[in-house]
Amino acid sequence: MKKEKAVVVFSGGQDSTTCLFWALERFAEVEAVTFDYNQRHRLEIECAQNIANELGIKHHILDMSLLNQLAPNALTRNDIEVKDGEDGELPSTFVPGRNLLFLSFAGVIASQIGAKHIVTGVCETDFSGYPDCRDVFIKSLNVTLNLSMDDSFVIDTPLMWLNKEETWELADRLGAFEFVREKTLTCYNGIIADGCGECPACKLRQKGLVDYLSKRKES
Ligand SMILES: [Zn+2]
Repeated sequence: MKKEKAVVVFSGGQDSTTCLFWALERFAEVEAVTFDYNQRHRLEIECAQNIANELGIKHHILDMSLLNQLAPNALTRNDIEVKDGEDGELPSTFVPGRNLLFLSFAGVIASQIGAKHIVTGVCETDFSGYPDCRDVFIKSLNVTLNLSMDDSFVIDTPLMWLNKEETWELADRLGAFEFVREKTLTCYNGIIADGCGECPACKLRQKGLVDYLSKRKES
């Protein structure tokens, strides 16, 4: 284990919780940061808090409600329905540059708490249409953060090239399979663990889980 400190961008979902376990395995000290921008479900914040408490991790919750002013869309306003993007359009949950903002604030926290590593669960494999989740953007931002604060942060993206099945596999290897399955929230309808089973987020999570379980059975 490295003696270094890490801050994990943490939403209480499958991906960022897996990243939290990944960081706990690697770094001497781990803290988490969650961005509060009036998510559809307060449960998302509660879920993140409960996980951080259970793992004994210091948890920073940042008020990002200004995002509502910038992007009055389905993620932040209850009166607009969540829709999948059609014909290559971005889904209606799209907030331009959201990840740029979140990672920049995570960088400020990292600087203040003396963390060298910033861990994020962004992933290019199931490319969602978010340009600021791509590997090239993360590398670019890493350089920019270091220049802006005259520091030498490392942005870690353990899930960047994994599909959902492989993310379950990683959780299992970290001894966190049951924890991630039972305590995280991915569902757009705010149902913890296996979720509603109907929304796009549940379907993606479920498919990965089924694929992984059948692979685990074979081996
Ligand atoms: Zn769901």
